[in-house]
Amino acid sequence: MLLENKVALITGAARGIGRAIALKFAEEGASIAFCDLAMDEVAMKTKSELEALGVKVLAVASDVSSFEGAQGVVDQVMAEFGRIDVLVNNAGITRDNLLVRMTEKEWDDVLRVNLKSAFNYCHATVPVMMRQRGGSIINISSVVGLHGNAGQCNYSASKAGMVALSMSIAKEMGSRGIRANAVAPGFIMTEMTASLPEDVLKKWTSSIPLRRGGTPEEIAKVCCFLASDMSSYVSGQVIAIDGGMGA
Ligand code: NAP
Repeated sequence: MLLENKVALITGAARGIGRAIALKFAEEGASIAFCDLAMDEVAMKTKSELEALGVKVLAVASDVSSFEGAQGVVDQVMAEFGRIDVLVNNAGITRDNLLVRMTEKEWDDVLRVNLKSAFNYCHATVPVMMRQRGGSIINISSVVGLHGNAGQCNYSASKAGMVALSMSIAKEMGSRGIRANAVAPGFIMTEMTASLPEDVLKKWTSSIPLRRGGTPEEIAKVCCFLASDMSSYVSGQVIAIDGGMGA
């Protein structure tokens, strides 16, 4: 198994892409810690699915945008598992609007939940990885962080920030054996995209060379590669998983 004896911390993993990443990592033998806004029915179901795969699981309710909250989650993971080998900054939100109509709150909320959260969790986890002399950080960015998107200036900026954050950490922490990479999913079928109108969905998929949206499992497979020793010389990269959209 690719992730045997590794401990992975994944943010926002109750559902969607984060859930798929947690399940894939568990299938490959990793112990899983995840946080989400609330430990509701959905989060508890994910926890049970993970436990059914025979791995240890810690699930914590925490808002990723809280700096103290992130330190608290990392402290709990350390108390439970004693190490963190992989950090996946996955939790994210959209608050779409055209630039001229965008409110300050829409801008601030997206930057706080998507980008500041990644800083929060890297800040709390990197000292652990430094002591271990190794670790893999995976930031879930987006194709719009590479190319921009009308109506998503807040979201695109937050995702571009995650790419630069990954590259900077790769440079700062490489000598300590810590790798940092970003993945940039394209159009992935989750609840985040399910609310889009039918005509928008059709327009998007027709512009994708593979002519379909991706699945959360297809993102999870690439994250598994980045989490594992298979990618031991891969750092500071951004891997687009977009069916050829950005080609
Ligand atoms: P999703 O289905 O909406 O899931 C997001 C998860 O993050 C949910 O479990 C949500 O919790 C959690 N979350 C939201 N705000 C949080 C907070 N403040 N603190 C803790 N947890 C929080 O989204 P997804 O489609 O799986 O997306 C996952 C990541 O991939 C995001 O960063 C997104 O930007 C990125 N991405 C998605 C796509 C796509 O097409 N779906 C494409 C590119 C990038 P609740 O259930 O409590 O809301």
